[in-house]
Amino acid sequence: MKTIGLIGGMTYHTTLVYYEKINKKVQERLGGFHSAKCLMYSFDFDEVKKLQDQKKWDLLSKEIIFQGKTLQDAGADYLVLCSNTIHKVSKPLTDYLRIPLIHIIDAVGESLVEKRVLKVLLLGTRYTVLDSFYQEGLKKYGIEVVIPTLSYVNKIHDLIFKELSENIINDESKMMVIGLIESYGLQGVTGVILGCTELSLLINDEDVSLNVFDSLNIHIEKIVETII
Ligand code: GLU
Repeated sequence: MKTIGLIGGMTYHTTLVYYEKINKKVQERLGGFHSAKCLMYSFDFDEVKKLQDQKKWDLLSKEIIFQGKTLQDAGADYLVLCSNTIHKVSKPLTDYLRIPLIHIIDAVGESLVEKRVLKVLLLGTRYTVLDSFYQEGLKKYGIEVVIPTLSYVNKIHDLIFKELSENIINDESKMMVIGLIESYGLQGVTGVILGCTELSLLINDEDVSLNVFDSLNIHIEKIVETII
């Protein structure tokens, strides 16, 4: 088995899900007392959030490279960024490091192609939805990405940071997201990407009629496949 280097803490609620589910799946597949070989660096999210809000992506990129290199030097064979948003700075990281990154957008793209969903709604933080990196990353899979109106982009962004990042699960917010997703089903969109790991704390594929592409769980599946 290969060793993964996890860069997490963005937020710690979903880093816990990564850690638990990766280990569970490794044990299910290999049996016995097997569990995943992991190294982890977990950020103080307050520091990350401030850099994101101040649009200091270069500084954030340097931080990520520094921690990625530390995990590489400590013996990681693969690197994982436990967040969609931080993949905005994945290119400088992969350019700098020797070990490969198990990329969340590639995992989502492969899953979309497998399920033949070629037109998809993207939900996530404002940075993920309004910047081009996610849509660019899906282009090579031939996926057409649709994004919500700006007012809904802002509502989802606030929901992520004011509720889900604090592990607050609110029924009203859940109904708002379900209503939004269903409205796109009427416009020829056949799938929705939960392109923020915290969104999978709120919504699952039983909640809506569209195909749900839960980036957190798709990423975890890909990580386990890669390391065993
Ligand atoms: N975990 C989040 C994501 O998947 C958002 C937190 C962050 O801004 O890094 O995008």
